[in-house]
Amino acid sequence: MYDLILKHAVLVTDSAVFPGAVGVKDGKIAAIGEVADDGAPCIDVRGQYLFPGLIDCHVHFNQPGFDSRETFDCASSAAAVGGVTTVLDMPLNNRPATSTAARMEAKKQLIAGHSWVDYALYGALFPACYGDLAEMHAHGAVAFKGFTCDDSALFPMQPVEALPRAFAALKPFDGLAALHCEDDVMCTRLAQEKIAAGHTARRDYLDSRPPEAEVRAVRAALAAAEQSGARLHICHVSHPDAAQLIREAKARGVRVTAETCPQYLLLTEQDVLTRGMVCKCSPPMRTAEARDRLWDYLLDGTIDCLCSDHSPAPMEEKDESGPRGAFGAWSGLSGVQTTVMSMFDAIVHQKGASPCVLAQKMGSRPAEIFGLDRQKGRLVVGMDADFTCIDPERSWEIRPEDMRYKHKLTPFAGCRGRGAVTLTVLRGSVVYRDGVLSAVPEGKLLR
Ligand SMILES: [Zn+2]
Repeated sequence: MYDLILKHAVLVTDSAVFPGAVGVKDGKIAAIGEVADDGAPCIDVRGQYLFPGLIDCHVHFNQPGFDSRETFDCASSAAAVGGVTTVLDMPLNNRPATSTAARMEAKKQLIAGHSWVDYALYGALFPACYGDLAEMHAHGAVAFKGFTCDDSALFPMQPVEALPRAFAALKPFDGLAALHCEDDVMCTRLAQEKIAAGHTARRDYLDSRPPEAEVRAVRAALAAAEQSGARLHICHVSHPDAAQLIREAKARGVRVTAETCPQYLLLTEQDVLTRGMVCKCSPPMRTAEARDRLWDYLLDGTIDCLCSDHSPAPMEEKDESGPRGAFGAWSGLSGVQTTVMSMFDAIVHQKGASPCVLAQKMGSRPAEIFGLDRQKGRLVVGMDADFTCIDPERSWEIRPEDMRYKHKLTPFAGCRGRGAVTLTVLRGSVVYRDGVLSAVPEGKLLR
């Protein structure tokens, strides 16, 4: 007998949409399509799309060290309510940064029992930790995050000049470098010039991180990856000119993958200018023209994954009234609860594309790229019984008070659309259903 049956669904795989049911046994998918009713507990999801449990491959849940900004308790419950069943957590906005195996283990202990969804960890990538990469890999790091530009004193840069050494250190275990790509020389110089001149308005911040800075860093990273034959993942592509370089590199056989986020596909620099620091992130949001062109690269497969880059902070840290103006405000925004709904509406209702696109970008592709594809990301017998159900016509509006984040700020406040998450299932257990979150966090560490 099954443990659970979800029946009368519209199943969405990464290549097909068809009516059917799923049967769950021991936390795994045991049957798909025609599933005989054997008396097992049953949920009727008539008329709803049933996706594989969706993956957010880039989040900052800020533990250890910055519980003042976000916590696993809050953010993972937001993920579950938002239809995400797996998150990949970044090694920065952590104190200490996750740059050794011992720190990974300490982080695992701290998080254990506090996540409503399954999770895996990134390790850090900067010159001082090249000697630790193999051990972090052995301890389950799914990829290694580096910054080509200055981020914070707690997380040293991965200079583009040192990328050959980084790729050489990753090579023995074919590790994946995940890079934040903005040119440090350009961004640092522009910021210093503007701040020194007292030009610290929102427009000045945007101008200090121009598309050229992203393009330049992406070009350098691609060249280094091509030289070494290593695997490279470009984080949060914000501009179509950067995506074009990735498209060309893929055509040449460079082992590169890429992600983008709802803020670059839905919002623009105008949101930063008018709504302020709640919309500040880096790279920053771009023009409407750039946003519209970025969609081409998502839909043609150049951009593999959709993620939130959830990296919130309290309102006090979003303050732009200090001497450094907009430059002094925290750069990073929330999104783990709203990515699935906003991207479903945009892909299916606004762009008229297949829901399979969402099953690719938050299912099969991130699972493959980050080495989770034997457990996660697809509707296949034997995989973890993780499901995200969406009522395609149910309308929604994003309201800050509905967010389960530690701080209820969202750059998507006021956004409306259709396609609401109704049910989230993790390894056969209902984590969220119609407004109700399960009582106990049951998320587990992956790898
Ligand atoms: Zn990030």
